Amino acid sequence: MKLDKSIELFNKGQKNLVGAVNSPVRAFKSVGGIPVFIDHAKGSKIYDVDGNEYIDLVLSYGPMILGHRHDKVEKSIRKALKKGYTFGASTNKEIKLAKIVCDAFPGMDKVRFVNSGTEAVLSAIRLARAYTGHNKIIKFSGCYHGHTDALLVAAGSGLATLSLPGSKGVPDEAVKNTLIAEFNNLESVKQHMNSHNDIAAVILEPIAGNMGVVQPSSKFLHELRKITQEAGVLLILDEVMTGFRSKFGGAQELLGIEADITCLGKVIGGGFPVGAYGARDEIMNMVAPLGGMYQAGTLSGNPIAMACGIATLKELKRRNPYRKFKKNAAKIKDILLKAAKKHGVPLQVNHFGSMINPFFTDKEVIDFETAQTCDTESFKVFFWQMMEHGVFLPPSQFEAWFLSSALKKKDLKKIAEAVDISMAKVAEKKTN
Ligand SMILES: *Cc1c(COP(=O)(O)O)cnc(C)c1O
Repeated sequence: MKLDKSIELFNKGQKNLVGAVNSPVRAFKSVGGIPVFIDHAKGSKIYDVDGNEYIDLVLSYGPMILGHRHDKVEKSIRKALKKGYTFGASTNKEIKLAKIVCDAFPGMDKVRFVNSGTEAVLSAIRLARAYTGHNKIIKFSGCYHGHTDALLVAAGSGLATLSLPGSKGVPDEAVKNTLIAEFNNLESVKQHMNSHNDIAAVILEPIAGNMGVVQPSSKFLHELRKITQEAGVLLILDEVMTGFRSKFGGAQELLGIEADITCLGKVIGGGFPVGAYGARDEIMNMVAPLGGMYQAGTLSGNPIAMACGIATLKELKRRNPYRKFKKNAAKIKDILLKAAKKHGVPLQVNHFGSMINPFFTDKEVIDFETAQTCDTESFKVFFWQMMEHGVFLPPSQFEAWFLSSALKKKDLKKIAEAVDISMAKVAEKKTN
């Protein structure tokens, strides 16, 4: 595999960028080797600077749900560009996107747009505290909610259950109001709720995607909704990854539960930096300028980003690719399991809607602890073989693969061939 130009850029980038990247996962540290640098992408394909072509199962970690540079989306962006880039005043586009989003989430009367998922979550936490007058937050180990101080604890790696900061520079005080519970374990939530009477909110990914894809048991989510409601604790569902991904209304519609506050990101911007948090009127009316919770943004509701979001969501709604996603995800799961069996590699595959995760372990993965049983060395071998055979995967065992509506039958065939070869190599390395 020719990576000369990527290697050159990776070296050059070290000088003025931190590790030559702007987000750590892009450095490929957990799979080793040199990260590829991208030149362009179209539809289901992405091309690196050395001219290698890949089927893209990263999709920028989720946003590119229609594939790259969808015609209708691109047209809307071009049209918006002609009118100006940002005004520091409101436009009709914000109202339009707000209506699409609020219509999709039954518990949402109003929404506030921000510029990232991180920003959506940190604002939602502030809002929950403002609304309840309480300070404590319960989060689940293995769930990732962006890089805000208070939630950078047990966020998908390292110190699993302790309330210790998961990053240097986060003071103990910043996480002292963060309580950690275990995903799919209601008792661990109840224990916190019984011993603290100042809990503002429970926050979780309704379908976990940042410890690999882990599905909640139906009882867990519904009971969680029930006990939070009874205790007057807000339920914040972080749908930054799952919003509009597995169903138009997100995981909430699919799983039949309603959040008090919903966080969105990724797909709603269609590839531009957009995040959002929304709730019923009573809660959102706390936010400035209507209420006393301050939150602002110079570029929030940016007209180009809004145009991209509107066009993406409109096309998603019109095409309704969700059944196709489910079918394709099931096919890929089947491809993975068959190849694993054929070559004698222990493998579990979790998938939910258009998010898929193969785990190199023989244990069923239901939470952070079981996800940790994975053989990450096997994943490394698998990853580079897949890359070599033209499939771009997230460079980590614990990142979900995403599907787009641009994925073609012949792409699936190519994925199947690559998986078979890659799994054979994994088996070969294991016996050596
Ligand atoms: C990606 C993600 C975030 C953070 O969003 P950014 O746009 O990267 O800040 C937060 N929560 C979840 C569930 C995510 O998947």
